[in-house]
Amino acid sequence: MSFENSLGFASSLDEKDPLASYRNQFIFPQHQGKDVIYFTGNSLGLQPKQTKKYIDEVVNDWASLAVEGHFKADKPWWDYHERFSEQLSKVVGAKPSEVSVMNTLTVNLHLLMVSFYRPSSKRFKIICEEKAFPSDQYMIASQVRFHGYDPKEAIVEIKKREGEHHFRTADVLKTIAAVGDECALVLIGGVNYYTGQVFDMKTITKAAKNTGAFVGWDLAHAVGNVSLQLHDWGVDFASWCSYKYMNSGPGSASGYFVNEKYHNTKEIPRLEGWWGHSKKERFLMAPEFIPEPDANAWQISNAPILSLAPYLSSLHMFDEVGMDAIITKRNKIVSYLEFILKEVAIATNSNFEIITPVNQEERGTQLSVFLHDYGRELFDYLMEHGVFVDWREPNVIRLAPVPLYISYKDIFNFGEILKKGISKNLK
Ligand SMILES: *Cc1c(COP(=O)(O)O)cnc(C)c1O
Repeated sequence: MSFENSLGFASSLDEKDPLASYRNQFIFPQHQGKDVIYFTGNSLGLQPKQTKKYIDEVVNDWASLAVEGHFKADKPWWDYHERFSEQLSKVVGAKPSEVSVMNTLTVNLHLLMVSFYRPSSKRFKIICEEKAFPSDQYMIASQVRFHGYDPKEAIVEIKKREGEHHFRTADVLKTIAAVGDECALVLIGGVNYYTGQVFDMKTITKAAKNTGAFVGWDLAHAVGNVSLQLHDWGVDFASWCSYKYMNSGPGSASGYFVNEKYHNTKEIPRLEGWWGHSKKERFLMAPEFIPEPDANAWQISNAPILSLAPYLSSLHMFDEVGMDAIITKRNKIVSYLEFILKEVAIATNSNFEIITPVNQEERGTQLSVFLHDYGRELFDYLMEHGVFVDWREPNVIRLAPVPLYISYKDIFNFGEILKKGISKNLK
């Protein structure tokens, strides 16, 4: 569609936007009495107004019921986590039995690697992307060392080509083929946190499975953002945090997926605790571990209810809206942001390089912009003028116009502020 760089045009898109009313369900930080323009929902999503109710419910149950809250609360705590499976499975394209929530993301990936990274002298290598999110790099290297291997030998990074910003699927497949039967695990971030590139998870999963490796995905930047079909793609395991696109609050609990073919099998070991023990016999406190028949067998401790409550609140909103509606608006509003950035670049004679793929299949909500001629001072100017963006060295800003709460008017206003900032000749 053709866009216009005007307040009237942006307002007309807002009027036609079926998700427009959701903006009012979120709490925005204020700048000079007005909502900020919030582009950092890829880092910490905004707080839904209804979330306080969910947390209050737990706090009140704790006050009035105390220990009885485990069984007698309206949403009993002992199986609170089971309330997520049905709706969360729709967000990630899984069966309800394959999905649950616990811990935090890096912890969950470590625990899942206990099950799915079991190197042998012949098959010990892990394939990941170069410059993965730092926590993933530390996690993978420490797992490799834990098993007595040398990260320099055991970790194979997929590289971008010289001068290119994105990974090519063909290069990923080539790496998988080259490592072949030495590959124990392929573990990649499904959406790259720096460029916003969406990997072709289906094709990569299939290729990795064909070599006999296990495949896991870190979906921190993918969940609630892009279409996922974990079950149909044949993914072995995945995990994601809930505080980015899923608006569940700082450090809130993480979701995870374990393919149903590994439920009820002794072939896959795991670290165990009482919350993974069969619900029916959990409180018999018997010495022998009887696993839950689904992904919940990977649970260890009793669930962090105060961290799950905001996640449940957000999940209910996602379920009401549905990923299809989110993705439809996402494609349009990201294109509008791209259009406005180009308009500003022309008007100010600037060289902005959008390092996120142009192709809609290969990107989600985030646009990463290499500012070239401008730097930290322009970023500071934006923040001081009520625009929340995220800064990455050397001079990349990341912008996420989150479909649930960003308006087209926000995008237009951002363009005007950006233009003014540039006219001040900030370097
Ligand atoms: C945000 C993010 C994390 C964060 O990990 P935590 O364990 O939740 O602190 C990990 N990996 C990726 C790719 C991320 O984007």
